[in-house]
Parts: sequence; structure tokens; C-alpha cells
Amino acid sequence: MEYLLTDKGKLELEQLIKGRSLYAFDFDGTLAKIVREHHAAKLSRPIRFWLEKLAGGAPTAIISGRSVEDLQSRVGTIVPHLIGNHGSEGPHTSQEDRQLVRETCQAWLQSITERFHDELAQCGVSIEHKSYSLSFHYRTVDRRDAARLLISRVIGELSPPPRIVLGKSVVNVMPPTASHKGTALLEYMRRLDCPMALYVGDDETDEDVFALRDHRILTVRIGKKNGSSARYFLKRQVEITAVLRFLVEGGDQGLHTWSECHEQGSSRPAPRPNE
Ligand SMILES: [Mg+2]
Repeated sequence: MEYLLTDKGKLELEQLIKGRSLYAFDFDGTLAKIVREHHAAKLSRPIRFWLEKLAGGAPTAIISGRSVEDLQSRVGTIVPHLIGNHGSEGPHTSQEDRQLVRETCQAWLQSITERFHDELAQCGVSIEHKSYSLSFHYRTVDRRDAARLLISRVIGELSPPPRIVLGKSVVNVMPPTASHKGTALLEYMRRLDCPMALYVGDDETDEDVFALRDHRILTVRIGKKNGSSARYFLKRQVEITAVLRFLVEGGDQGLHTWSECHEQGSSRPAPRPNE
């Protein structure tokens, strides 16, 4: 992995700006700082400012583990393409596939509630039902090892066996048929007619994009990590602001050909943030 904010990394970003590129980001830990309470995550003012500018001029998407409804409550309408549930919720998936995924999650939840409700509650593990996936949260639990053991025991009982993706103090389970972040990004590149893309993420679920090792996608991880398939990294989450700003200002200098990609973005000027 190489550090993105170098001359070499910036040259790669400029290549994206010059072409028709899709800019896609994870939400928690990437656009929003990780916070102790999952419900408290939000965009900082500078990030909201530059993200809105970027989305106003170029195809921009958020691909998150949160549901689309949850993302909408945090991002509003500034980013036109919101993809939820680790890539499985959005207009890119067929109605039959979505129905199958929802039914599987509903059946899992019912069996978990019947058999493990008291144990999970005593341990402090909460389950978030996101229609297309389930998330076991243990960020606020003191006995974290016990929580992880219990979660793995619960998941071991699920049928059909889920796809498991570990996050920061969260274990996500998805039906084996659900599409993931990598397939979602490729589908949006096709739909939006973007031969190139940037994808930034911080977590195990983002490895589904990084592991595509598709030369058309510039992959960036928040935080350097051995074993990650991302090509570049940022040292800290807050550096995403510099990336957004670089993309916007590169666009303002006429490096790109974004004008044909405007159709769903807003061109409304935003007020400057109080930095
Ligand atoms: Mg994340």
C-alpha cells in the first residue's frame, strides 16, 4: 500500500478527474468519524461542504452497511446515489433478489429472537435489522470477548449459512445470494457510464471492492493495514477532506470533463464551512 497524498497519488487522482469517473465512498469511518454510539455518526461540516460540491459536478455514490433510509437521514439529498446494506440495497438489484434476501433476514431474525433473545440482551449485544442484512453491535459492551463468542455461536446456528463480514465492533451477516460492495460498484460504473472509479473505505466490507483488483478502480483504505488489497491508504479519516477538496478544485481548474455527468447532481452553490 502507498500513501495517497503524495505526488504519485495525486497524479492518479488527476487521471480520474480527467476522465468520466465515479466517486464512491463508504460512510462510517470514511466520510463520518467512528463514534461510540452507532446512531450518532454524522458528516463534519467541511466534509459535507466538499462532498456536496463534488456531487454537484460528478457522479458520486455512498456504498454503506447502513440502510438507504438511515443514510438518507444523515446525508440528505447531497449525494444522489445511496447504496445500502453492504451493496445489496439499491435500484441495481432485481426485485426478486431483494425479496429473497429480505425473507431470509426475516427468518433469521425470528429464529434468533426465539432462541437467543435473553442471552444477547444480558450480554449487551444489540441486533440491527436492516431488512437486507443483520448487524450485531457490541461497541458499548465491556466484556467484548464474551460478546464475540456469543455472536459466533448465534451465527453458527443460522440457515442458510450467511456471508459474514466483520466490522469495527460489529458483525454483519448477509444472505449468501446478496450482492456486495464490489458488485454494486461495478454495476454503478456501468449504469453511470463511468469507465473509472475511486473507492474509499476503512473496513472489512470494503475489501469486497479492494479485492476486485480492477485496474480501473483507484482503491484507498483509511488506515494502513497489512493484508488489505487496497492500493493506497490515508493515515487518518479526517484526510478524506483533503481528497474531496483536491477532486473539487481539480474539477474547477477544468481538468475534467464532468459536464456530461451532471444529470443527477445538484449544482447549487453551498456556503463555506466554518473550519
Ligand atoms: Mg466503514
